[in-house]
Amino acid sequence: MRILLIEDETAIANFIAEGLKEEGFAVDMAGNGKTGLHMALDNLEEYDLILLDWMLPGMSGIEICRAIRKENQTVPVIFLTAKDTVDDVVFGLETGANDYLRKPFAFEELLARIRVLLRNSTGAQHIFRYADIEMNLDTHRVTKGGAPVELTRKEFALLELLLRHKGKACRRTRIIEKVWDIHFDHDNSVIDVYINALRKKLDSPGSLSFIQTIRGVGYRVNDDA
Ligand code: CA
Repeated sequence: MRILLIEDETAIANFIAEGLKEEGFAVDMAGNGKTGLHMALDNLEEYDLILLDWMLPGMSGIEICRAIRKENQTVPVIFLTAKDTVDDVVFGLETGANDYLRKPFAFEELLARIRVLLRNSTGAQHIFRYADIEMNLDTHRVTKGGAPVELTRKEFALLELLLRHKGKACRRTRIIEKVWDIHFDHDNSVIDVYINALRKKLDSPGSLSFIQTIRGVGYRVNDDA
């Protein structure tokens, strides 16, 4: 899942971005309103959620939210705001934001709200299963046959993407968009390295891999288990 974070206070932005990356999200950051709006409008289809500071240099969060809503009614937007009067909050929600969080906030609260919105917007489950593999997004745990399996954050994000789209092909370009961030400049053969790591950790000995390679396209987890 890919999140755009528009926030001008570097310390807060880094704190949020680091936390989200640890949870397996791909995060793109903008430090002012204009850049944020450009990034949002240029890649609206790619973002699963937008975190938007209210007070930004160049352009306010309110203006950005309105501009985003003109183009896209569905992408979830959460306001991060120090403004906390009831009127401000109502006004913020009326511009089309889905939720708001008052600064200072605990990262765990932000994460919980993000998960709720993503679940609503994508109809997303928080538990995925394939055969004896189970992935729980809330507890951030993966088990195989009931035994915990340790995954790196990229492995976790990649597995989530594959299981979320069970039965469908995950194209390589889509994997890069959803699991890596905008600064990704490696040879995308890095995907194969992560796929192999997942196979090593989660395949059952003696049977075909649970991840199928679709030559020249990408990967797929079948919808048969
Ligand atoms: Ca600000």
